[in-house]
Formats: sequence, C-alpha cells, structure tokens
Amino acid sequence: ITTYRHKKVLVLGLARSGVKAAELLHELGAFVTINDKKAFAENPAAQDLLEEGIKVITGSHPIELLDEGFELVVKNPGIPYENQMVQKALELNIPVITEVELAYQISEAQIVGITGTNGKTTTTTLINEMLNAGDKTAHLAGNIGFPAAGVAMEAKKDDVITMELSSFQLMGIQTFRPHIAVIVNIYEAHLDYHGSRQGYVAAKLRIFENQQADDYLVVNWNQPELRELITQAKSRIVPFSTKEVVEAGAYVLDGNLMFKDEIVGQQQDIILPGEHNLENVLAAICVAKLEGQSNETIMHVLSTFYGVEHRTQFIKTLNNRRFYNDSKATNIISTESALKGFKEPVVLLAGGLDRGTEFDELKPFFKNVRAVVLFGETKHKIARVATEAGVEHIKIVTDVEEAVPVAYEYSEPGDVILLSPACASWDQVPSFEVRGDLFIKAVQELV
Ligand code: ADP
Repeated sequence: ITTYRHKKVLVLGLARSGVKAAELLHELGAFVTINDKKAFAENPAAQDLLEEGIKVITGSHPIELLDEGFELVVKNPGIPYENQMVQKALELNIPVITEVELAYQISEAQIVGITGTNGKTTTTTLINEMLNAGDKTAHLAGNIGFPAAGVAMEAKKDDVITMELSSFQLMGIQTFRPHIAVIVNIYEAHLDYHGSRQGYVAAKLRIFENQQADDYLVVNWNQPELRELITQAKSRIVPFSTKEVVEAGAYVLDGNLMFKDEIVGQQQDIILPGEHNLENVLAAICVAKLEGQSNETIMHVLSTFYGVEHRTQFIKTLNNRRFYNDSKATNIISTESALKGFKEPVVLLAGGLDRGTEFDELKPFFKNVRAVVLFGETKHKIARVATEAGVEHIKIVTDVEEAVPVAYEYSEPGDVILLSPACASWDQVPSFEVRGDLFIKAVQELV
C-alpha cells in the first residue's frame, strides 16, 4: 500500500467524491490542496474542509498551482483529460488518479466492481441486496452515489464493497483490482468524452487489467464482440447469457434460472420486467453464487425486488393500466430495452435534450406502441420516426407532467404506460430523478 504520509496531493473537483478523497488523504497524513473552478460560496463543503486543515482554492483552476511540487493528482471523474490542469500534471509526470483507485489502495474489504453501458445501477443494487440478504455485509459505493473513498474508510475487513464503476472512473485507476469484476454489456455511448469508441471500450475493459488468476470476471456472453475483448484477462471467466446454455456460469433452461449445473430458481418468480433485466439478474446470480449465497437468499431478493427508482420502476395499476417510470433511460438503447420488455401494448412518454442524433433505431421497437406522447427538444424528431413506424396516435405536449393525462387518454385496459424518454432531461428539468418524480406525481394525481 502506498503511503500518503507527508505526500503533497492535489484534489481536483470539490464534488462529493473529491471531498471524501481530500478527507481521506488528510486523515492519512498527506498535505492536501483541493481546487474547484466554482466560487467558494458555491461549494457547500469548502468551509468544513478549510476548518479541517485542508487548503482550499476556488474560483478557477490556476495552472501555476502545479509548480508547487505535487506528487499526486486525484481528479473528479467528470473533469476531462483535456482540462489544462490535468494536461500540465501529465506533462510533469505527476500521476493522475480517480478516487476509486484511492479507495482500493486503502480498503481492506473485498471489492466487487460492476461496469457496463446500461444496467450498472440495477445490477449493482441486486448484488448488494443478495449479499446483505445472505451472510455478508455489503456496502454500495462508487457511481451509484456513495463516494468510494468514504465507503472504503468505513468498510471492515470481512465486508464487501459493491462498487458501480463508470468508464470515467476506470480511466483513473492504476492498481485497482476487484476480486470480482462484472461487465454487464458494452454499447457505444459517451463518445463525446472518450473521443472514440475504442477509448470508451478500453476504459471499461480496464476493470480487469489488474486481476489475477484467483479473481473472477463475470461477462455478458450475449455479446460476441465482448468475448473477443476479454481474451487478455488473467482472471477466471464466468459467463452469463439469456440466449444460450453457458455451463460455466448463469443461464436460463426450461424456465429455470441456472448456475452451472444447479437450479437456482424459477424465471417466473423474478419481478423485474424485461430481457434486459434478465441480463442484470443473471449477472447478479453469478456474483451471489461466487460469494457463496444460497439459492433461497437469491430467490428471496428476486421475488421481492421491484427495481431501482427510475429504472423501469413499477409505480401502480390504475383502471387496469400499469404505470412504469424509466426516467433513467437517457439513451436510445435503454428505451429499446424497456420497450422490448413488454408484450402488452405500450403508451410511451418520451423526448428531452437534443444531442444531435436521430431516433431511427427505435423504429422496430415501436411495433407494440399504441401511442407516443412527446415533449422536450427532440419531440419532432421522435414524432417523425413514430409516424414512419406507423404508430396510431402521436401527441406533442409541453412537458412530462402534461404528458401523463394525455397518455392515459390514449391508453386502453391492459396497456402499459411507460416513461422512457431516450434522452437526457436537461432541456427542461435538472435531472432524470426530478423528471421521474414529476411523472410519479402526475400519475398519483390521475383520477
Ligand atoms: P446504468 O447505471 O448503467 O445507467 P441502470 O441500471 O440505471 O443502468 O439502467 C438504466 C436504464 O437502462 C434502465 O432504465 C433500462 O431502461 C436500461 N437497462 C437496464 N439494464 C439494461 C441492460 N442489461 N441492457 C440494456 N439496457 C438496460
């Protein structure tokens, strides 16, 4: 383990993960400076850090700061490598890491790391629930909203840290080595930040770069290209597939959920809807079984877990219509999987921030869609695709709240009414959580 005593460390970014990293390093005896481009008053934690004895520099990223002889930079995953401070640090050969690496270095607990394009949060949550329902003490960490450094400080030796990892976080690792790594899937996304598909894929694959022969890599076997990409892994491969029998891992056979040659339970007992969630479930089963959890424990979780908030989350039934909130569907693939998940006719609420892409890929998934109710910057783009796909009713409204009663009006008994926007929310509301909450509120107000 690296010793941080008397080390000069610069933390870039005063968001939650930066604050935790700064506090951790300070506790370990490092000389910590934290820097954020936003003004002092806009950084809620700045005063506390200052009082703890951490140097706080706000309002800009002053490049001269790097002349002060820092030995390490811990960067917020959201700060791009093109940032001039990061660039200069790299030129000066100062290692630049993310807080996840730091968490790994100091953690005594075992780490299960989960990455992928879609399904990370759901899979991470399922795994965490299964471990806690069994004989383990597991802690959620990472991208899911709990800074890894903070969790690592608190987790005990026999605990498990269930860590959701974005590609941005994985770009800043050095020695990070999860005992179990999970790649839920890899689709093209986030191209704006990583520059190219290769860069993006490479970042995700770093999850196993330090793994050794006694570690495990749980991988989606539905994706042939992913199989090719993991040939370098030193760890033991544990596949999962919704499409074929994979004897070394998790799969479905005659309605049974299988792990290796053992029946774990029945597919029909899973509450989470959709084939995409079946992927997440099988990935979670692999981890739970590797961690020695019983089939009863696993099935208990699968038969009681209604989904993470805003991810094809079941809200309620009203006059024989079922409402689902999938506000987290901020890209086309997510909405595709949500639509694929329902056999019933769907009334779809969609639209949001325009990132310049077209929505033609959605066309084949509109087969089951009875009506679309559209809002936000992309409403006309999606309307064109829905028209071409032959959707019966296409309605344009102002926002998600107005969309709910309109959607109800066009629905029939037995339908699913689904918010799955295929877009980010920032053109109208500050986050997908707020958008989902507005949807839920409007659903609760329907009479
Ligand atoms: P992430 O944390 O990777 O964004 P989430 O679990 O929050 O993933 O799910 C986000 C959205 O992606 C969900 O609302 C759902 O529509 C879709 N999704 C979930 N799991 C999968 C999967 N395995 N494959 C494709 N899409 C998925």
